[in-house]
Amino acid sequence: MDRDAIRALAAQIAPEVTTWRRHLHQNPELSFEEQETAAFVTERLTEMGYTPRTGVGGGYGVVAVLEGGKPGPTIALRADMDALPIHEETGLAFASTRPGVMHACGHDAHTSVLLGTARALKQIQAQVPGKIVLLFQPAEEKPPGGAKAMVAAGVLEGVDAVFGIHVSNPVDTGKLGFRAGPVNANSDRFQVTLHGRGGHAAGPHNTVDPIVMLGATISSLQSIVSRSVNPMENGVVTIGWVRGGDADNVIPERVEFGGTVRTFDPKVQELIHARIKAVAEGVAAAHGGRAEVVSTYGYPVLNNDARITDVARKVATEIFGVDNIVEPPAGMGGEDFAYYAQVRPACFARLGTGTPTTMNIPAHNPRFVISEDSFAMGVAYYVGLALHAGALI
Ligand code: MN
Repeated sequence: MDRDAIRALAAQIAPEVTTWRRHLHQNPELSFEEQETAAFVTERLTEMGYTPRTGVGGGYGVVAVLEGGKPGPTIALRADMDALPIHEETGLAFASTRPGVMHACGHDAHTSVLLGTARALKQIQAQVPGKIVLLFQPAEEKPPGGAKAMVAAGVLEGVDAVFGIHVSNPVDTGKLGFRAGPVNANSDRFQVTLHGRGGHAAGPHNTVDPIVMLGATISSLQSIVSRSVNPMENGVVTIGWVRGGDADNVIPERVEFGGTVRTFDPKVQELIHARIKAVAEGVAAAHGGRAEVVSTYGYPVLNNDARITDVARKVATEIFGVDNIVEPPAGMGGEDFAYYAQVRPACFARLGTGTPTTMNIPAHNPRFVISEDSFAMGVAYYVGLALHAGALI
């Protein structure tokens, strides 16, 4: 199949992708609760002639396999299905019908584009080399996530390479983005409890004030990235919340705060967590108090395999032309596609969904909207991979 035939097939299927996407957008489900979404995916796949496996990974994972008509390698294509605890404010006609739950990260699009791909591949099954494994994964947004369990359930056994896409508003609609190497960060959490000694606000000399300790600790933690991390490396320490105190005239016993650590390099990751502990404990001790620090490692860095990313870029360039292929910068966000990429060579691409009015509205924003004009490109890309990546792997 040449580029024109692939694009025509994708364009023919795109309206149905949009219909499915709007249905999913109106009926979002939170991580680990994707019962209806998984049922919707299973029904569509069954109608198309697949025999999907459900309940994969102990959750709502759905896996379908297309046996191509020609010999070749096995490639997996992955979509995530979950929504976020955000109250939608887009004003779209097909906005979420569930208060406080919204597809604000485009997973409705990922799922629908992969369903469209499933339909396209059934139409050209005889021409497909090898095997295509379609992975519909739950719970990307909430660690420990769905990917790890899918991998543990063996969905990558016999798979030679894994591909995924993520919608991206900073990338223009009509463009597809590829970058080799780390593209998403190690995404960890930390929580600190500062123990003091409570008492009367008018008698601070008889207390150990954890609020003053908190102020000093927060300030000191800002020095970790600026003074401890090599300036040529990457790191983020963000404190996202603080909790403590109830009354104007009471010095509390303790206060708590927490946040996130983002890194690419495991040594920097270890260093930052060690410094958070040392700084918090040291500052607390200097104030006569005590700090308890708990660090929790989250999704690992997502590494796009150089060779497989090159394969994906070649296939996409052939279909869409070199002018429509871009190289977006890496980001410090987390993404559990990383678990597939840890065990198989993988490429996670950015599907441009931005328009002049939406490119500054990021994912996870209650007004996040994407261009549905991007869906044909998503399907054409996946169909192109299914047909042509095998020969290049
Ligand atoms: Mn996402």
